[in-house]
Amino acid sequence: MANILVIGAGVGGATAAALLAKAGHAVTLLEAHVYPGGSAGTFYHKGYRFDAGATLAGGFHAGGPHDVVGRALGIDWPVQPAEPAWQIHLPDRTVTRWGEPARWHTEIARAFADAPHLDRALGFFRALENLSDAVWAFAARRPAWPPTSLADLVRTALALRPDTLIALPHLFETLSQWARRSGVTGQALQTFLDAQLLISAQTTATHASALFGAAALDLPRKGVNHVRGGIGQIAVQLVDAVRRFGGEVLFRQQVTRLEVQEGRVVAAHTNKGLRVACDVCIANLTPWNLAQLLGEATPAALARETRQRPAQWGAFVVHAGVEADDELTPVDHHQVIGDYAAPLGEGNSIFLSFNMPGDTTRAPAGHRTLTISTHTRAADWWALRNKPGGQAEYEARAAEYTERLLNLAERAVPGLRRRLRLVLPGTPVTYQFFTRRHLGGVGGFPMTSVFTARGPWTGLRNAWLVGDSIFPGQSTAGVTMGALRVVDEVLRALPRARVWRAGLNAYPDSG
Ligand SMILES: Cc1cc2nc3c(=O)[nH]c(=O)nc-3n(C[C@H](O)[C@H](O)[C@H](O)COP(=O)(O)OP(=O)(O)OC[C@H]3O[C@@H](n4cnc5c(N)ncnc54)[C@H](O)[C@@H]3O)c2cc1C
Repeated sequence: MANILVIGAGVGGATAAALLAKAGHAVTLLEAHVYPGGSAGTFYHKGYRFDAGATLAGGFHAGGPHDVVGRALGIDWPVQPAEPAWQIHLPDRTVTRWGEPARWHTEIARAFADAPHLDRALGFFRALENLSDAVWAFAARRPAWPPTSLADLVRTALALRPDTLIALPHLFETLSQWARRSGVTGQALQTFLDAQLLISAQTTATHASALFGAAALDLPRKGVNHVRGGIGQIAVQLVDAVRRFGGEVLFRQQVTRLEVQEGRVVAAHTNKGLRVACDVCIANLTPWNLAQLLGEATPAALARETRQRPAQWGAFVVHAGVEADDELTPVDHHQVIGDYAAPLGEGNSIFLSFNMPGDTTRAPAGHRTLTISTHTRAADWWALRNKPGGQAEYEARAAEYTERLLNLAERAVPGLRRRLRLVLPGTPVTYQFFTRRHLGGVGGFPMTSVFTARGPWTGLRNAWLVGDSIFPGQSTAGVTMGALRVVDEVLRALPRARVWRAGLNAYPDSG
């Protein structure tokens, strides 16, 4: 039995901790905050339970990452499909994003009837679904991607099947190159693709890898879900599983320093004076946060990465308590684009989510919770925050962004503003405070190419990263896939006899 230390109870860290506890290892999960989930956590404020960041979760379909983990751990996820998934309000039209393929195809034909080559656009969306199926099926076979050794390459090769061949022509192209080649033209369609990719791939079609982009754009067909009690219930269930399988979970324990000997992490020290010794260390952190804990022991490649890599996106968010019943809006999730001519983000594109209808645990009777978010450059907020006397400017900017978000939200849900009973803004500074993520950056790295994706390596022999900084990146489903890969690696590095106990080999080819 190995002593396994997991730093951070985000969905990635808690997934890895629970699976390794189930495999029979002595797991200690240290979490800085008072509840788990990180950017997919749910917090309580004045009678409302707000989702801190993520609001909708994919990956619960048969063979999907949450399904695989739930079956391995005996978790019956409290989820309910959201259909339609959401509505996209472009400046001149509204598109309903049905998961059911026939309805979705009819909706494309209706909403984009003015597109120059509608028949070709429809063909593109069908091809996108086929490619997405191949990508998800490949991912379900748990290839060790990106590879860091010959053995990883062999594992990746073993996950290939004849149906993976349809991915070949798209290996090196971006989503927009593919879309253009397929005849997808027209401002509305292009903005639709950009807006959807920004929230699911952290970048627009010009930069998004076609492979990533296909899987991300197809999420509604794969199924997105409300989580009863709030998205934080995913991490709560995982933390329960860690304890059920004999692991220890300690909240209010922020790791402040890692002790390294001969290229291995041997112990973590926390702000409460705790020292936890370990054989294996799994860090649910960004590369910058890990380097900070390692200090002078940071391996050269990791140190270089933290100097050279552009920062992650930040989020500006408004949590609102709304006096309304379930009838307020027929669709609970909306994306709104303000202006075709302006860049997306910074309040020109927002995503808003109400709590699951009928979920009385989230708000007082006759009220609902609402989370509205937009992409923002984190550095701009920090510049104001750190400027001498900049506090007033920082607050004025937050007030201005709050107005922008609420005004755009009003377009999706007319009458919303007069129903607001509580408004709680959050900036990247807020995210940094509550999730400890470097500069409050969220959502991992843009999914630009499968060949530049970051793996879980740390440069230390017994330490791995999990979370949305590693392939395949953001979302509760994405970080769960990444955690599965890391668990595979850790179990391979430890005595073989333990592997079967994780129950993970039960679904070797579920895609
Ligand atoms: C506004 C917004 C909207 C989003 N919408 C969606 C969505 O609808 N659907 C979706 O699937 N995804 C969404 N995402 C993305 C998703 O939330 C994240 O990709 C995912 O939750 C990240 O998980 P993680 O494993 O990287 O952990 P994180 O969320 O980064 O959590 C890390 C945990 O580690 C803890 N920690 C950090 N440092 C230390 C330390 N030194 N010691 C101890 N503990 C520490 C933190 O407190 C935290 O609990 C959204 C994100 C944001 C911000």
